[in-house]
Amino acid sequence: MNKLILNFKSKESKKIKNPKYLLGGKGANLAEMGRMGLPVPPGFTISTKVCDLFYKDKKKLNFKLISQIKKELKIIEKDVDKKFGDIRNPLLLSVRSGARVSMPGMMDTILNLGLNDKTVLGLSKKTNNGRFAKDSYRRFIQMYGSVVMGVESYHFEELIENYKLTKGVLLDTELDETDWDGLIKDFKHKVKEKTNKDFPQDVYQQLIGAISAVFLSWESNRAKVYRKINQIPSEWGTAVNVQSMVFGNMGDDCATGVVFTRNPSNGKKEIYGEYLINAQGEDVVAGTRTPQYITKKAKIQAKVKDASMEESIPKAYFELKKILNVLEKYYKDMQDVEFTIEKNKLWILQTRSGKRTSKSSVKIAVDMVKEKLISKNEAVLRVDPSSLDTLLHPTLDEQSSIKVIANGLPASPGAASGKVVFTSEEAERLNGMMQDTILVRVETSPEDIQGMHAAKGILTARGGMTSHAAVVARGMGRPCVSGSSEIDINYETKIFKTSSVEVKEGQVITIDGSTGRIILGNVPTVKPEISGDFSKLMSWADKIRKLKVRTNSETPLDTKTARDFGAEGIGLCRTEHMFFEEERILSVREMILSKTEEDRANALEKLLPHQKKDFIEIFKIMSGLPVTVRLLDPPLHEFLPKSDKEIAEVANIVGTDLKEVKSRIEELHEQNPMLGHRGCRLGISYPEIYEMQCRAIFEALSELKKNKQKFAFPEIMIPLVSTEAEIKIMKDLVIRVARKVEIEKKIKIDYLVGTMIELPRAAIKAKDIAKHAEFFSFGTNDLTQTTFGISRDDSGKFLNDYIENKIFSIDPFISIDEGVKDLVEIAVTKGKKQNKKIKLGICGEHGGDPKSIKFCSEIGLNYVSCSPYRVPIARLAAAQAELEK
Ligand code: PEP
Ligand code: MG
Repeated sequence: MNKLILNFKSKESKKIKNPKYLLGGKGANLAEMGRMGLPVPPGFTISTKVCDLFYKDKKKLNFKLISQIKKELKIIEKDVDKKFGDIRNPLLLSVRSGARVSMPGMMDTILNLGLNDKTVLGLSKKTNNGRFAKDSYRRFIQMYGSVVMGVESYHFEELIENYKLTKGVLLDTELDETDWDGLIKDFKHKVKEKTNKDFPQDVYQQLIGAISAVFLSWESNRAKVYRKINQIPSEWGTAVNVQSMVFGNMGDDCATGVVFTRNPSNGKKEIYGEYLINAQGEDVVAGTRTPQYITKKAKIQAKVKDASMEESIPKAYFELKKILNVLEKYYKDMQDVEFTIEKNKLWILQTRSGKRTSKSSVKIAVDMVKEKLISKNEAVLRVDPSSLDTLLHPTLDEQSSIKVIANGLPASPGAASGKVVFTSEEAERLNGMMQDTILVRVETSPEDIQGMHAAKGILTARGGMTSHAAVVARGMGRPCVSGSSEIDINYETKIFKTSSVEVKEGQVITIDGSTGRIILGNVPTVKPEISGDFSKLMSWADKIRKLKVRTNSETPLDTKTARDFGAEGIGLCRTEHMFFEEERILSVREMILSKTEEDRANALEKLLPHQKKDFIEIFKIMSGLPVTVRLLDPPLHEFLPKSDKEIAEVANIVGTDLKEVKSRIEELHEQNPMLGHRGCRLGISYPEIYEMQCRAIFEALSELKKNKQKFAFPEIMIPLVSTEAEIKIMKDLVIRVARKVEIEKKIKIDYLVGTMIELPRAAIKAKDIAKHAEFFSFGTNDLTQTTFGISRDDSGKFLNDYIENKIFSIDPFISIDEGVKDLVEIAVTKGKKQNKKIKLGICGEHGGDPKSIKFCSEIGLNYVSCSPYRVPIARLAAAQAELEK
């Protein structure tokens, strides 16, 4: 299109390739509706190209353009049989911004343009409604005065408030025509006083001023900030829509309203919306009057008396109903439509895709496939994978009173209420008495697993999105708010403080792990409902995706949940989590504190049956699917006793005294445990630990095989490898144990040995490492930590500053960072060069993040692995990634 301005009715808009780029979202929709012959108030769009020219032309509209605008105005005048600036029959205009994507509230709008001291009299006479005309004029002076002339809006509001005080009334509706006459004078004085200019009476000057102001608002601070946050390029520019005004507030044969083509909260195929007689659009949203229902059915359901639009204005209602049908068929999506009725005539002001809840988003997508409006692929693309979170977890009932006392990171979705407890023991104790608790800790450690399980939710003051609390809570499906630096916990006094309140042990709080809110008291929640539509959509997604979806799980319960959610195996079984159950922790401590190899072997012997039992259960649940078991990873001191009572217990078993145990604990202390004696470094120092774990895996398999039970396919994973020698030694160890068990049990065992890639050196030297690894699993939690040199557990304290200063657009522990992506790509390329058949997966928390999943799909990983409750999200995201390839 060469034209810089396009009339809504022009057939030319059909030829434009990307109408939204040129006409903006609102302009493109108005043009489409105009072309379809729908009753859109006549008007035209000044394209985004003009925005560019405007800035190039020193922020001026050139002469040629102005004459084109005047030509377009003539067309509108003819259409509506009114004249711009005419003192008897004036045409009034609205001037609105409209960028390629909606930027709500960021740019400017001016209504009632074309009113001046003379035309207002014409309008008054013509409508026989002096109050309406004067009220419209004062609204215009107020809008134009602030948007175009820079007089802040509160000056006008102040004048109205003072006037009402003097008159002794409360509401604007109590002001009559003469009151507005007086205020119009005051408004104009205020403009003169603040700008030293008269309020413009020339309607063309008004129009040019308004169009220029909309273009200028594209570069306003708030628009710039919004663009930065939402990554909208500045060169897109905005279009301007100039449209003849229609009025819903000219009397009782007028109305205005907003309507959805389907119910946005439950997705039902029924018209849903609100309207008000004798009102303007802003009155519907302002809440000063209660809007009424559109349909009779909705009115009856809500048990209200006020007539629905279907009853009070049936003719316009049936016309609207027809139009809604046309619009939905045309856009093939649920529409949110604004309309006005002026003297019984229906006008459509705007249509756009309607916002909806996750539940309705799934239902609408599935229903539209049934109705043959969209294809299955389109339906899969319609639902935001992250929104599924709210379908799988309870959410806060937003209708109830919510008093937020502090915020933290939304670490694990869902909402929960309970009594505040500060220790895992207390959580377990109260759980035994059927009482709900929220476990509040500075941070959690593997020791807290049982307490976390017993609690309904977890709140921590420290730790980021991949901290222990976050990862474990997600795995368990427990809501968690982590890293809330706004709370100050005192374990001694059993109190936590925020800037405004003190919360004692036993007081009830609610946490919302989907938003990070911490709330005082009990807030009711809404239960999730998994519908047949959800399963249907998931089955379509599964047919599309190539990426497999596994789960990170180590307990039978989580494994079962994940399999029910569609997990295709386990991508990470963190065996250390299995060491913390009550009976075992003593043997683990005994093993760590043993002085001789023999003593250690004794302790390991005690652990073996426990590990074996765990594996048997998990291998059964995941039968027929791969299970990646990671050998012990965290630093040993995490398992050590802390209280004197615990230390004495261990000393007793090991046959030594308290002092000796304490000195051994001291020896094991590390300054930087995350970078210390952990991962395969433990396997190098204490091969017998890994040998025990491998034996437990292989013996579990042979037992299942012997009993003719179905079982999973094991993949043994070595953590924190950085050199070729490490993986080689560890692989030899695994093979050695496997052979021994094969001989002892007279059985053949199939398995793979691979490694995690979670250190930059491992990624860079992936070719060497791949000589000994049958698979790579990207541990992007540690890889992010070590790439940036940012501690996973301390990042919560300062990441917000990084986000606020736009250093990060998102926490790199949530969505994979560009630098980390490069390392993953290097490892994929080098790994494949060495071993074409190498299996590739990801098991860091990024495996459940839709954006990161897209990256995994693009670089050809075989699977992603995530916590059980994220499995459906990953399935949908993987399908979308495939469709977007
Ligand atoms: C990782 O580092 O990404 C990983 C999955 O391991 P962990 O979180 O247990 O360190
Ligand atoms: Mg790791």
